[in-house]
Amino acid sequence: MSRLRRHFLFCAVLFVSAFAFTAALAQTAPRLDHTISIADAAKHLFHFKVQVSNVTGQTLDISLPSWTPGWYTIRPYAANLIKLQANANGKRLPMRAIDKQSYRIETEGNRSFTIEYDYFANNLAVNGAELTEKRGYFMGTNLFFYVPGHTTDSPSTVKFEIPDTWRVATGLKRAEGKNTYLARDFDNLVDCPTVLGDFDEFTTTALGKTIHIVIDPKGQISPENAEKLKEYVSRVIESQGKMFGGLPYDEYWVLFVTGRGGGALEHENSTNVMMPSFPPDPRFAVGVTSHEHFHAWNVKRLKPAALMPYDYSKEQYVSELWFAEGFTNYYGDLHIRRAGLNTTEDYLRSLGNKIRGLQSVEARNWVSLADASIITWLSYGGGAGSYANFTTDYYNKGELVGLLLDLEIRAATGNKKSLDDVMRFLFDSFYKKGKGYTGGDVEIVVSDIAGRSFKDFFAKYVNGTAELDYNAALKHAGLRLVDGKVVEAENVTDQQRALRKSWLGE
Ligand SMILES: [Zn+2]
Repeated sequence: MSRLRRHFLFCAVLFVSAFAFTAALAQTAPRLDHTISIADAAKHLFHFKVQVSNVTGQTLDISLPSWTPGWYTIRPYAANLIKLQANANGKRLPMRAIDKQSYRIETEGNRSFTIEYDYFANNLAVNGAELTEKRGYFMGTNLFFYVPGHTTDSPSTVKFEIPDTWRVATGLKRAEGKNTYLARDFDNLVDCPTVLGDFDEFTTTALGKTIHIVIDPKGQISPENAEKLKEYVSRVIESQGKMFGGLPYDEYWVLFVTGRGGGALEHENSTNVMMPSFPPDPRFAVGVTSHEHFHAWNVKRLKPAALMPYDYSKEQYVSELWFAEGFTNYYGDLHIRRAGLNTTEDYLRSLGNKIRGLQSVEARNWVSLADASIITWLSYGGGAGSYANFTTDYYNKGELVGLLLDLEIRAATGNKKSLDDVMRFLFDSFYKKGKGYTGGDVEIVVSDIAGRSFKDFFAKYVNGTAELDYNAALKHAGLRLVDGKVVEAENVTDQQRALRKSWLGE
């Protein structure tokens, strides 16, 4: 037997046993099926009854998340638990707290039992939950328990027992039974923000897929503006979908939840957008939708390796948010232009504002994009204000680095390749192969596609704090920066004009 052949056999045995092990795990994963009802809407109390099954062992640990993926800050969700108990055959099972968000249940040999609790939901926020007499709204991270080690291998159902006048809006898959839904695993369960109430709902299509648009509470948009909103949302989603050769989901939900500003959060097949009220011009709701929808590729499917799998128990440090958020910002606005929802002048004016924004912040000389990404947990979503918050905005600088890369790749390849090719390549070669990416991977892919090394570029602009050379990149598109404004350069060539045309989709 040759060494090679022996090696092959050894690998085959490893592979088979790894497969058997995974299959065994899946069979033994504890399963949680949830029924959510209203304990007391005036007091903001949901009631949860959770059927736990497939339990093995003398104890079962259960945890509530301490953060919501995409909103990088630790929150004490478990502080809202009330009257937590586990019961089997009419008898309470012993339970004790093991950390601020976890409990250990003595199973007493039961393979199934129930967990019940009330949940105080009075935080209308993108990473929050709220129950009033008018509506229910939640990010599942606030209120669903998971079994540590089993966030990706166990499906569950969710049944809503709500007033007859209320409906459910969620990206979860519909299942048999009234107001019943199926989550493929815990990640999916808590990735679907949910609105319960009497809201306005419109549907439109993009590249053959159904797009649901929900505005809660209802009555905030005229029929004409609803038509415009549907058209704008379709156009921007189609522009993005065409870049990737299709849309990566069956259906998509845009959930506008009004009553408090602001912010929005990305999910695999939905977004929850918070606003004080729905804007009179629906165009103002489309920019945020474009950003969040682009995340359906960038960060919800194509993920930094450091976020795979999600760890709900603590901070998950990732140094690629300049790519996950900054490049999403870049494409969010670029597709508004490419979809024809604004003009080239509008786009360039906004670019000038962003450049002036970055250049006015001293921290850009001190905190690199990669470092700003790691330390985001200190200030994300409102931590700023109470701290010095001396950091670089990786949304803003990340977007401008995306712009520079796009123009430099176009220039290096005679406009045959662009950042679009980088995004597509990463999506196909990482997400579709089940792999996460690192900043180093992005650098390699950019260099490969451009046909020249971008090592210096990444060292200076992503991992370092060198000033961005805007004019070197803008000149490829016949533009230049003058007094913080992006304007037409002198003596623009046909080549530069052609590059600008394909870049901005003119
Ligand atoms: Zn984002």
